[in-house]
Amino acid sequence: MDKGYEPVIGLEVHVQLATASKMFCGCNAAAFGHEPNTLTCPICTGQPGVLPVINQQAVEFAIMAGLALNCRIASFTKWDRKNYHYPDLPKGYQISQYDLPLAVNGWVMVETNAEQKRIGIRRAHLEEDTGKLVHRGDHSLVDLNRAGVPLLEIVTEPDIRSAEEAYDFLTKLRTLLRYLKISTADMEKGAMRCEPNISLRPAGTNEWGTLTEIKNLNSFRSVRAALAYETTRQENVLTTGGRVKRLTMGWDEQRNITFPQRSKETANDYRYFPEPDLPPLVVQPEWLDRLRSQLPELPDVVKARFVVDYGLSDYDAAVLVADQAVARFFQDAMAACPAQEPVDRHAQAKTISNWITGDLFRLMNECGLAVEEMRMTPAELVGLVNLVRRGAISTGTAREVLAEMVKQGDSAEAIVQRRELAQISDQGTLEGIAGQVIENHPGEVAQYLSGKESLLQWLMGQVMRTTQGKANPARVLALLKEKLEAKRSGQP
Ligand SMILES: [Zn+2]
Repeated sequence: MDKGYEPVIGLEVHVQLATASKMFCGCNAAAFGHEPNTLTCPICTGQPGVLPVINQQAVEFAIMAGLALNCRIASFTKWDRKNYHYPDLPKGYQISQYDLPLAVNGWVMVETNAEQKRIGIRRAHLEEDTGKLVHRGDHSLVDLNRAGVPLLEIVTEPDIRSAEEAYDFLTKLRTLLRYLKISTADMEKGAMRCEPNISLRPAGTNEWGTLTEIKNLNSFRSVRAALAYETTRQENVLTTGGRVKRLTMGWDEQRNITFPQRSKETANDYRYFPEPDLPPLVVQPEWLDRLRSQLPELPDVVKARFVVDYGLSDYDAAVLVADQAVARFFQDAMAACPAQEPVDRHAQAKTISNWITGDLFRLMNECGLAVEEMRMTPAELVGLVNLVRRGAISTGTAREVLAEMVKQGDSAEAIVQRRELAQISDQGTLEGIAGQVIENHPGEVAQYLSGKESLLQWLMGQVMRTTQGKANPARVLALLKEKLEAKRSGQP
């Protein structure tokens, strides 16, 4: 910011872990698409006399996330009760982790405007979700399906310096979580929630300003918009000699503004104390090693490999690895490229990457398909690319064919044959058509010969029209030039 203030932003992100059952009981953790209060039991509804049992899958998912976030995994970690009263919390407390979280001191590399930045991860810990309140007129209903669903809370260091950077961090985090297959990380569906906090300080200092926290954000875009708004709002307060109040702000999606909700609780208000019903959790080195060995190849590593192995640009590689299924599709396509043909492998990689990130992404978007839902295989895309390379079809025709491949699920060769789309490259045929066009348009030809060069394109257009776009453009151009020059020099 040029006016002398810089934002200092930290994020608190809650991620719903994709376990089969809840954090401390055997209830289905699906939480969506079920009748209210059908996925409950005495444990997650907080009945007296019941005991929680730790979900091992949730702990393993959390450890994997910690490792992927470059955290130190605690060998000894414990559970705590966070006490507060609210109708969606039947026990009157939430089981969480307070002073000994499962993972600490990590970092994530985030790229904003082509600049790499390291964002620190202060901690990541496990806790259980609360229920949901549904407001109907003058009363509220409680649905406890979600109560007890495992959450991973990830807290960043206040390293983020712009709304854009916060957005890029969230995008990167979502990619990581999806590579690990431990969460759908879908913010619109509540599987990921983000509460940013933001303060302003004179740029270049290490001061801490008064921060506000923003709640009720349900998309990455609203996080970015709310932080941008709050940056400007606090800046206006400070530059007019005012003081920022420590507040929890809400986000009004319609009006695009933040508004004060309530004063912020301090940690003390929750009266944290150790959970007496659960033993501390000891993470043995063998367990940690096993989970480390199960980690998939993470996006940054895949990206580096694409740059080295296939000569892709940083940008292209980043676009491909943003979705693990897309990265795999690209890699499978490269594996399906015929090795014996004399093709520059880097050029081939660039061509395939362009087809995927250009036309294919657009088509997938139009059809509402994810790459893994497509019927077209990577080898079939290579088949299409090879038809273009061999001159059998033009790039324009290939676009049409690709659309049909995605929608109908047929091979490029079959579609080209069935719809008679093959490009006309036959010299004799093209010569006949070009000669005919020149003969039929003596006026334009005369204008061209007297210096109006743009008419060459027009004549070319006539050939393409006659052949319904199937003529090989490079050959037509060469043929037309040859014939027109022959006319200029008075040859037949
Ligand atoms: Zn339950």
